[in-house]
Amino acid sequence: MSPAAATPPTAAVVGGGPAGLIAAETLASAGVSVTVFDQRASFGRKFLLAGRGGLNITHSEDFDSLLGRYGNRRSALEHVVRAFSPDDLREWCAGLGEPTFVGTSGRVFPESFKATPLLRAWLARLDGLGVKFATRHHWNGWVSSDGGSLRFAAAGEDHAEVLVAPDITIFALGGASWPRVSSDGGWLDHFVNAGVATVPFAPTNCGVQRQWTPVMVERFAGHPLKNIAIDVAGCSVRGDAMVTRSGLEGGPVYAHSARLRELLQADKHWSMKIDLRPDLAHNRVVDQLTKARRPKDSVSTWLRKAGVDKVRVALLREATGNAIPTVVDDLAGLIKALPLAGEAMMPIDRAISTAGGISFDALDNRLMLQSRPGIFLAGEMLDWEAPTGGYLLQACFSSGVAAANGALVWHDENARS
Ligand SMILES: Cc1cc2nc3c(=O)[nH]c(=O)nc-3n(C[C@H](O)[C@H](O)[C@H](O)COP(=O)(O)OP(=O)(O)OC[C@H]3O[C@@H](n4cnc5c(N)ncnc54)[C@H](O)[C@@H]3O)c2cc1C
Repeated sequence: MSPAAATPPTAAVVGGGPAGLIAAETLASAGVSVTVFDQRASFGRKFLLAGRGGLNITHSEDFDSLLGRYGNRRSALEHVVRAFSPDDLREWCAGLGEPTFVGTSGRVFPESFKATPLLRAWLARLDGLGVKFATRHHWNGWVSSDGGSLRFAAAGEDHAEVLVAPDITIFALGGASWPRVSSDGGWLDHFVNAGVATVPFAPTNCGVQRQWTPVMVERFAGHPLKNIAIDVAGCSVRGDAMVTRSGLEGGPVYAHSARLRELLQADKHWSMKIDLRPDLAHNRVVDQLTKARRPKDSVSTWLRKAGVDKVRVALLREATGNAIPTVVDDLAGLIKALPLAGEAMMPIDRAISTAGGISFDALDNRLMLQSRPGIFLAGEMLDWEAPTGGYLLQACFSSGVAAANGALVWHDENARS
C-alpha cells in the first residue's frame, strides 16, 4: 500500500444535530477522519429539546403509510428512508443502550423517554471512533479564491477565522425554528449566493394565531380541548388541542400546517371547522341537546348538561360573536362544525419544524450538490416537511446516513479516477 493510500480521507460535518452526528458516525465507521463543527457550545441541542416532552424518534406504521407522511417529497425521500428505515433506527437506539417501545398511537420512543441518555452514549461512541468535535465554530461560507475552503468564525479570545479544506463536506445545518437553541437559518444566504436553488423557510408543525376576546384569554388560555376533530379543506384530523393567549396549538392544528399555510397564501386568512363532539353523529348531538334542555336554564348551563364543557362553550361564543343559536338543529350543526378563522400562523421561531431550505432540485439522488461535487446535505435544512409523530427525526437520521454513504461512494470513485 502506498503512503498516500494509507492516509484516511478527511471529512467536515457542519452541524451537530442528529443528521450531522449520524453522518459523522457513518463516515468514521468507514475509516474517514471526521471533524464535526457546530456554532453552539454543545451538540444536539434541538434533539434534547425534542426529548423534553418524550422523544418520539420514529413511527411503527407500515412503510407505505410512513412514506406518505412526506407528502410531495415522498419520491425524493423514499430511497433515503428505505436505506435507513425505522427498524434500522430502532436497532441503532438499542445498540446505544436505549431499546425502544411503541406507544399507544404507534409512535416509537426510547425506553427512558428522553434524549439525554441516548445523546450521551452517542457522543461517547463517536469519541471512541476518533471523531473530533469543534464547538463554537460558526460556518461563514466558502472562500471563493481558493477553490472553496470552508470559512469558520471560531469563538475564542482572538475570534480567529479558521479555514478548512476537507475531502468530503456534509452540511446538516437544521431549519429555522427555535433559533436560540439550534440553527437560525442564517446559513441559507451562503447557498443563495453560491447559486444553489433554495426555497424560503416557512413554519410547520406550529399553531395558528387568532385574536381572542379578552374573556377567552383571561379565562381559557392554557385550557385543553380534548378529543376534537379539526377539518381544513376537507381533511379531518382528530386529537387534543390547547387554547393559548394568542391562538390554538396542538397535534391536529400542527398536522394541518401545510394546508393552513396554503389557505393563508391564497386568501390572506386561515380557516378551519372544529368538530367539538367527534364521537357523536349530528342526530345524537340533537338528542342530547333536546334531552338536556330546561326552560329556565341559561345557554351555558344547557350546554354543560348536554356534555359540552366550559372551554367548548367559550369557543362557541367566540365563533358566533356571543350569539349561540338556540334552535337545537342549528346548535348541533355548530357543535359538529364550528368555523374558526384568523390571519396568521404562529411565528417561525416557535414552530416545531420548518419547510423550505435547499431545494431537492439542487441535489443528485446521493444528496450531493450538483453544482459543487463533494458537498452533501442532510436533515431539516432540505426542503421537506412531515407531521409530528417521529417522521421528522426519522428523515433526519435517514438522510444523514444517505449523505454519508453517498459521500463514501463519491470519494471512492474520485480516488480511482
Ligand atoms: C420543541 C420541539 C420538539 C420536537 N419533537 C420532535 C419529536 O418528538 N420527534 C421528531 O421526530 N422531531 C421532533 N422535533 C424536530 C427535530 O428535533 C428536528 O427536526 C431535528 O432536530 C432536526 O435535525 P437536524 O440535524 O437536521 O438539525 P438540528 O438538530 O437543528 O441541528 C442543526 C445544527 O446545525 C448548527 N448550525 C446551524 N447553522 C450553523 C452555522 N452557520 N455554523 C455552524 N453550525 C451551525 C446548529 O447549531 C445545530 O446544532 C422537535 C422539535 C422541536 C423544536
